[in-house]
Amino acid sequence: MVTIKELIEMSKAETEAERSIAKDLKVSEYYRKFPELAAIDGDLIELRKSNMLASLEGRDEYAERFLSKESNLRKKREKYLAENNIPLDFDQESFVCAKCEDTGFVTGKDGTLKVCSCKKDLLEECYDRSGMRDYKSVKPENFRSDYLGNGEKRKAVMNGLLNACLGRGDKADKNIWIYQGAPQTGKTFLSIVIAKGMINLGKSVLYLKCESIEDMEDEDIEDLKLCEVLVIDDFAADISSRRRIAYVLNTVFEIRNAAGLKTVIVTYESQKELLSACDVRLAGKLKNAGLIS
Ligand SMILES: [Zn+2]
Repeated sequence: MVTIKELIEMSKAETEAERSIAKDLKVSEYYRKFPELAAIDGDLIELRKSNMLASLEGRDEYAERFLSKESNLRKKREKYLAENNIPLDFDQESFVCAKCEDTGFVTGKDGTLKVCSCKKDLLEECYDRSGMRDYKSVKPENFRSDYLGNGEKRKAVMNGLLNACLGRGDKADKNIWIYQGAPQTGKTFLSIVIAKGMINLGKSVLYLKCESIEDMEDEDIEDLKLCEVLVIDDFAADISSRRRIAYVLNTVFEIRNAAGLKTVIVTYESQKELLSACDVRLAGKLKNAGLIS
């Protein structure tokens, strides 16, 4: 479980190296085209070296001569750069991505911080690591509420999910949410859009099918307790009542509730059906859940 911010932070050294390599290439390209410039820069380096040596040896009288020599070389260099239309910063590092200045984030039209397009690969990696490896084709940016007809309702569901995950709106205190809808109404699609959207906002997110908890390693179960947003898809009373799943979910819900972390369970069963057929400890927790349908 990792956030996009962490992945971008981890890639910083790589970006720095990329900047430095790009600079070296740029400089050597200019030197190849303008050998005189390379000669002047070589002279400047030599001059500085001998000045350093002189000062180490205590030959202070050299300092003044050095300054005037250096100033002459600098003037020569400036003139040469101007005459040949060489940018003054040709030997400086420039951003790999000018759009985000290598921060990895840009401010969107609505004022929120968004992951820059240059970090698209990292974003994909983050989706994969958050349980959405099988849903590469679902892109939050392509979401259209009228895709399956009844756009208004879908938009309301979408807003409900957003508010639930972000702890906004009139039931901001609810930590467990039931997103209920008939089969084949695009619940998984919407859940993935929301989960990816939360990742884009920098949150740690996990998406999984309820059934997969059965064979989950203990280490992964720890992540279920800690991630900021947990989406459990294909939740059904009979699946959640299996011994191991019921045990895990009960603990996970308890810990997440105490920490104020948001959980969305996605199901085609109604809250009433869930309450009557779920493991009794789980039913107790689902009784007070928020409902999106
Ligand atoms: Zn960028």
